[in-house]
Amino acid sequence: MNYTSTRSKIKSISSAEAILRGLSDDGGLFVPEKIPKVTLDEIAALKDKSYEQRAAIILGKFLTDYTADELGECTELAYNFFDVPARVPVAILIQDPNNPVAPVGEMELFHGPTSAFKDVALQMLPQLMRMALTKVGETKEILILVATSGDTGKAALAGFADVPQTKVMVFYPDGGVSKIQRLQMVTQRGSNVNVTAVRGNFDDCQNGVKKIFGDTKIRDELDKLGVKLSSANSINWGRLVPQIVYYFSGYLELVKAGQVKLGDKINVSVPTGNFGNILAAYYAMKMGLPIHKLICASNVNDVLTEFFKTGTYNRNRKFHKTITPSMDILISSNLERLLYHETNGDVKQVARYMNELSSTGKYKIDRKLKERLDKIFYAEAVTEDETLDIIKRVYDSFKYLLDTHSAVAVSALSKYRGKTKDFMPVLSAGTASPFKFTGAVLKALGQQVDGVDDLKQLHLLNVLTNINVPKNLAALSTAEVLHSDVCDFDEMPERVIKFAGK
Ligand SMILES: *Cc1c(COP(=O)(O)O)cnc(C)c1O
Repeated sequence: MNYTSTRSKIKSISSAEAILRGLSDDGGLFVPEKIPKVTLDEIAALKDKSYEQRAAIILGKFLTDYTADELGECTELAYNFFDVPARVPVAILIQDPNNPVAPVGEMELFHGPTSAFKDVALQMLPQLMRMALTKVGETKEILILVATSGDTGKAALAGFADVPQTKVMVFYPDGGVSKIQRLQMVTQRGSNVNVTAVRGNFDDCQNGVKKIFGDTKIRDELDKLGVKLSSANSINWGRLVPQIVYYFSGYLELVKAGQVKLGDKINVSVPTGNFGNILAAYYAMKMGLPIHKLICASNVNDVLTEFFKTGTYNRNRKFHKTITPSMDILISSNLERLLYHETNGDVKQVARYMNELSSTGKYKIDRKLKERLDKIFYAEAVTEDETLDIIKRVYDSFKYLLDTHSAVAVSALSKYRGKTKDFMPVLSAGTASPFKFTGAVLKALGQQVDGVDDLKQLHLLNVLTNINVPKNLAALSTAEVLHSDVCDFDEMPERVIKFAGK
């Protein structure tokens, strides 16, 4: 299986190369030349396997330059630190036909070391990268630069800590992340990690990182130190491909729980930001997993909902800060891959749309493409009040506690069911532990939390619901602070070079 670009006909490359390079030189994203097929018998054969074994087999369909043993090793190392044996369990919320808020399966993607779904991919990417270095004969050290508004930074640190031949450096806005998010990062252990606060906001951090990536002088200097830059954000194929696995795994969990007969179709609901998670569901569907509809759930930053409803993608709009910060995004980068596949690889058309997006902030897809997307996707936007309301209703009905992002997916699903009367079983993506967003979750449950310290809120939520605080979060109050670097925007390049030379 080889990889090509979404924006021009390039010489195809191996998956190891795609993972190391991240982005194509023409600005496009790497995509598989064709989507591999999986038969129902092959899916059935995964039923009694562990998550790691399921992962190695599904990944093997795409990463054909890795051996089965290598993928087995990668998956063992990646998922070792998940705090439940199932790795990605599915909580069955008993469906009541009179109660359309009930999804059938809440897929818990948050049992990794940082309690958010990004772990599923960011625990795997470093393993894939480490092996890719050997495969392509790269001898330089890889320095992963991350700008974070909170969650990605910690997940990248946890994934890359002490991985040979790699270093990871995270910039976050000083005073711009929650206390828990900051503590998660500044207490990170590992001999190859650095965490630096930037006096500025998230955009400053991101612009600083982008500038460093584009600066040939800095790259030359790093080259002399034997270091090459790379990124761990969700446009990297190595971050997307591990996410395809859990749709297969989640489907099989529904089968095992007797909610679905093997071969029956399900719907999938995903709280969407950068369009990575739902795109992974799309790949699973195209491979042959029986999926009827993909429900793309947005918060009030509803650029994707508008796109699927009207065919126009328009980022020229007000940006809202919400209680679902990981979905506060106006450019959903991974949509480009969907456009590529659904135009049958029409790179000229994709390049045209992407050029229009960067020059005018919008583009309109043609009717034929719109009709194709209509068959696969249903999109719905959810307000903050609706998000809080569904957390309360699901908790009252099932004693099951959703985080705010996961709640957006369930709320969109409930709207979908109300409008279409399609009550097919659903796999809904649970993307974070409710303990990562305690303020909003406590508020949803009717608690007054203004002015209450973040760490106290963890305790309050535990007392109120009797649900255990995830270990990694509970440990924060006593963990040793190991990183206290702060710099100005202008100082970012020198900090990178200093860390690279260490
Ligand atoms: C990143 C994130 C999302 C959005 O996922 P995308 O792949 O960017 O669409 C949703 N929920 C949580 C908790 C996240 O961290």
